[in-house]
Amino acid sequence: MKAELTQLITLQNLDTNVRRLEAELEAIPQRRAEIEKEFEQRASEFLALENSRDEARTTRARLETELAETRTKAEHADRALMAATNEKEYTAAIREGDAARKHSSELETKILEQMEAFDNAEKAINERTADVEKLRAERDAQLAALEEQARARAAQIEAQRQERERVFNALPKQMGALYNRISARVRGGNAVAEARNSSCTACHMTLRPQVMAQIRRGEEVIICDNCARILYYAQAAPQATQAAT
Ligand SMILES: [Zn+2]
Repeated sequence: MKAELTQLITLQNLDTNVRRLEAELEAIPQRRAEIEKEFEQRASEFLALENSRDEARTTRARLETELAETRTKAEHADRALMAATNEKEYTAAIREGDAARKHSSELETKILEQMEAFDNAEKAINERTADVEKLRAERDAQLAALEEQARARAAQIEAQRQERERVFNALPKQMGALYNRISARVRGGNAVAEARNSSCTACHMTLRPQVMAQIRRGEEVIICDNCARILYYAQAAPQATQAAT
């Protein structure tokens, strides 16, 4: 009987390990998403700089087209001025030429602004390229480590499950069935609980001295009246995770 209780405790430890490893494995996709999001957030500044550089280039091209058109208008006005035959035509040509030259001047200023914006963005991009590459390399390393962790956890789970099967199959069928039944029912899945200081350590129910004595002898399966877990008494060198004091 005592050997079977020891096996039950081993079984429970294995089940606990499997649950813990499974929880770790399940947390990995979340962690992966966090790593990727963190990179995107940090690299977003870089991406924004690339956008503003491209925008400056596009705007400048548009302004240059408009400038060419405006200069043509000014030349047209100059020719109209030369060809003017009366006061009205003369005044209109002067006005048209002045307006075109004023607009050209404004466009030239705007073009210079866009050139400056382009240069500033380009400079900032060049300054940050190495940093972004570093961030990318860091992210890749973190993701690779995470994948390695996932592989290791999966292998550990498989090994612990196989060991669990071995221990479970070595138990008498009824004992195994009892363990599974209790484990499926109780919160946390721990079917076996230590009896210590005259109480069940799982539910803290006080155990009568004669029940405590039975548990101490370990000759039969004693179930906690309150939580229905299988009780065991830990000797000085316990097999359980909780050491007796
Ligand atoms: Zn109990």
